[in-house]
Amino acid sequence: MAPIRNQTCTGCRMKVPIGTIAVLMRDEDIQLCGSCGRYLYLPPELPPEPLPEPAPKKRRGRPPKVKTAA
Ligand SMILES: [Zn+2]
Repeated sequence: MAPIRNQTCTGCRMKVPIGTIAVLMRDEDIQLCGSCGRYLYLPPELPPEPLPEPAPKKRRGRPPKVKTAA
């Protein structure tokens, strides 16, 4: 897999179509780089746009902190 940076595949330094990035941002489907064939993904530390994501699915080993019910 290769992360996308500045709309560019870091695996081969080729520009990634914005449509491909949009699909990745919406988490609709996986995308392959048209040049090197790597799986593309958006690195989480670079949020490209503030998308309204109500429930991000993340797997963490730790359970969420339980607050005492008010
Ligand atoms: Zn590539």
